[in-house]
Amino acid sequence: MMPNMSSTSNKLQRFVVGLGDKVSPTDIEEGMRVGVDRNKYQIQIPLPPKIDPSVTMMTVEEKPDVTYNDVGGCKEQIEKMREVVELPMLHPEKFVKLGIDPPKGVLCYGPPGTGKTLLARAVANRTDACFIRVIGSELVQKYVGEGARMVRELFQMARSKKACIVFFDEVDAIGGARFDDGAGGDNEVQRTMLEIVNQLDGFDARGNIKVLMATNRPDTLDPALLRPGRLDRKVEFGLPDLEGRTQIFKIHTRAMNCERDIRFELLARLCPNSTGADIRSVCTEAGMYAIRARRKTVTEKDFLDAVNKVIKGYQKFSATPKYMVYN
Ligand code: ATP
Repeated sequence: MMPNMSSTSNKLQRFVVGLGDKVSPTDIEEGMRVGVDRNKYQIQIPLPPKIDPSVTMMTVEEKPDVTYNDVGGCKEQIEKMREVVELPMLHPEKFVKLGIDPPKGVLCYGPPGTGKTLLARAVANRTDACFIRVIGSELVQKYVGEGARMVRELFQMARSKKACIVFFDEVDAIGGARFDDGAGGDNEVQRTMLEIVNQLDGFDARGNIKVLMATNRPDTLDPALLRPGRLDRKVEFGLPDLEGRTQIFKIHTRAMNCERDIRFELLARLCPNSTGADIRSVCTEAGMYAIRARRKTVTEKDFLDAVNKVIKGYQKFSATPKYMVYN
């Protein structure tokens, strides 16, 4: 290995520098960040790659702890996701044999709280993939070029993983249809979105990165994002049916200390048009009733009270009927 390397100091000057005594040539690779001393500018210590602090706003889970068993209802959706995301990641050879490229990404749409994020995490768990979640609005930055740079760094990070699922939540914040308002104000948003499109085109469909996006407003998205070859699959998440709701009740009460023989189906019947998130808060509320009464187990009556409180209370705030307009 050559003793001299070129290094760039923070004044943007380039130096040809030597290797310090304590560093072995094998520790240093081309293009890596290193620390140099102030006098001779000799390389003293190898540094880890730079991770932008603004990128840490995304949540990275090496392997989420959610499995398909934790998703109630959504049978069709699970099946579709398995076909589009799980199969190409676990058995890429099937696609190679047939000579087709698997879809690169999936758009999940539906009312809030119907399990889009949950299912995405379950898929990551099944495929042993790292799960990176970014929220669309957080990518929209004040400064020109920042959003696009963050997208680039995010995909760079995804590429460094063995397998990775990148999940863009609330993608309507960046992926809205392009229009010209004359003031040029939204350009930064568009640049961020175009960088995502660019990155989507850039990676191999047979590779180990899959991109999932979620939105409540599928009608506002830019067609460029959705064209075949990018997010060519769309999976709709609807409100759970009776069976699904019963199952969601059972999932969320699994860890709770409940009285035996609670009629979950009855409870599910009492929550028409509720999302999985609503049902979860019914369960929490039932637990609260038990705590207030200083009991150690949750009774069916607690659940009935909770249904009354939560479901009735939520009707005032629910966004679900508004979403239904777009259906
Ligand atoms: P948003 O669009 O607001 O991100 P979302 O559809 O991604 O909503 P999730 O984060 O997946 O919503 O759901 C919120 C919570 O609701 C989950 O953490 C989970 O506990 C519960 N939940 C939603 N759907 C289900 C389901 N089908 N089975 C079990 N739990 C569910």
